Amino acid sequence: MQITRSSLDTAKGPADWFTGDVYIDAVAAPAGSSTFAAANVHFTPGARTAWHTHPHGQTIYVTEGVGLCQREGGPAQAIHPGDRVFFEPGENHWHGAAPNRLMVHIAMHQNDDSGSPVAWGRHVTDEEYAAAPRTGG
Ligand code: MN
Repeated sequence: MQITRSSLDTAKGPADWFTGDVYIDAVAAPAGSSTFAAANVHFTPGARTAWHTHPHGQTIYVTEGVGLCQREGGPAQAIHPGDRVFFEPGENHWHGAAPNRLMVHIAMHQNDDSGSPVAWGRHVTDEEYAAAPRTGG
């Protein structure tokens, strides 16, 4: 058994991979034979990931606010607390906050053999983001 107290610094989401202000707290880290990792991620209004894929897929579970997510070739969709989204391995997608709302989700995924849970692509453009549905207040 290993207890990790609430002592780890919150990380700022790097500008290469995120648009807007995003804050990341580690929830679980790979250990031993497990490649499972999880993070609690706060997206400020308008903030979102770049387009990306996960080698083993990813589940996000929304805990606060109103968010948006989109897979390549599909429409952006609003997501709310209690919603769970699974992105298939290799499925190009993004997720983030609504323009006018904070969004918090727990992201869960597995690292690949190189130790990475994600392959990053280009940023979501303002035009792509503006095409997402309005989510109201
Ligand atoms: Mn993702």
